[in-house]
Amino acid sequence: MTLKKEKLLKWLKYGAYVLAGGAVLCTAGYVFLNNPGMGKLQLRSHFRKDGLEKVGYDSAIAANWQAVIDFVTHWTRNHPYKCPICDKFHLGHRH
Ligand SMILES: [Zn+2]
Repeated sequence: MTLKKEKLLKWLKYGAYVLAGGAVLCTAGYVFLNNPGMGKLQLRSHFRKDGLEKVGYDSAIAANWQAVIDFVTHWTRNHPYKCPICDKFHLGHRH
């Protein structure tokens, strides 16, 4: 009986590794492959609700990575997009 339990635990562990690995691969794939689309040409694409400028990211990878961090830490889904005003990348909710 103990042998069976050990085998089961081993498979559970294996499954956890596969899940973790899949999550890492998905995250990496998103960070490196997601190609943010062009945002709408409107002031809100570049400015925040309070009128301040949004944080600009020089590369899509940096913006994608920040989107992942926001999702993990704040549980919010922000989408990176290319800003038609300053040509950098910003994060925001899709309009
Ligand atoms: Zn901008």
